[in-house]
Amino acid sequence: MTRIIATANQKGGVGKTTTSINVAAALAEQGRRVLLIDLDPQGNATMGSGAAGTERGLYDVLLGEVEARHAIAPTACGYDMLAAHADLSGAELELAQASQRERRLRQALAPIQDNYDYIYIDCPPALSLLTVNALVAADAVLIPMQCEYYALEGLTALLGTIRRVRGQLNPALTIEGLLRTMFDPRNGLALEVSDQLTRHFGNQLFQTIIPRNVRLAEAPSHGVPVIQYDRSSRGAQAYLALAAEILAREPPPAAGDPPP
Ligand code: ADP
Ligand code: MG
Repeated sequence: MTRIIATANQKGGVGKTTTSINVAAALAEQGRRVLLIDLDPQGNATMGSGAAGTERGLYDVLLGEVEARHAIAPTACGYDMLAAHADLSGAELELAQASQRERRLRQALAPIQDNYDYIYIDCPPALSLLTVNALVAADAVLIPMQCEYYALEGLTALLGTIRRVRGQLNPALTIEGLLRTMFDPRNGLALEVSDQLTRHFGNQLFQTIIPRNVRLAEAPSHGVPVIQYDRSSRGAQAYLALAAEILAREPPPAAGDPPP
């Protein structure tokens, strides 16, 4: 069974791309077949994966001009990639005129999704039509967030969007988990917000907390995930722990299934 996860938060700089790249790499290392989709026109996930992408990217796929399988390419990070090109920024406008505009990504993934165990979609920092496409295509949403004062307000807007998508376009959409990122335990406010999250969201919160760690910020400029850049770093260890938490949720294989 393929699991499609949208990494979303309309706030920029909360660790969406860092999480998408590093969870994808850690799951691939565990033998899972993983596809990473860069849905952000800024292309950070594409660059951070050292991927130039194929000639045709996600833009062409969303507009129905190219089949997804022709836009997917392997990376040296262990996962395949459907890359963003700069032209993706125009997709928002063009899609607005298109039929089935919220379902474009879901439809494009249908023919190829069985080739993967996990598909991660790195969303842009907006509750835009592109993000809605991710929420309609996904089984669940992974929400990275920094434990700071305005984090909870932003969360309300995101949860509202998720509720609307569930009501109209994708009733099966669930929350994969809220992930505390860039966490600094010396910061009293961070601890307070983290406590609030635990009270409000309980088991929807990942147990793993991603610390603030400079290795995580350095890795993208080398075009590799942190487990390849500095495996012993606290950042790498945290994302390996997060991947283990995600893997622990996998249903046990049915008798006769081949091992992954
Ligand atoms: P988003 O995709 O939500 O905009 P990014 O993943 O690009 O956020 O992260 C924003 C910036 O913070 C990037 O420069 C990234 O390298 C850095 N960063 C992300 N997570 C961490 C972390 N845990 N510790 C230190 N720096 C981080
Ligand atoms: Mg990003």
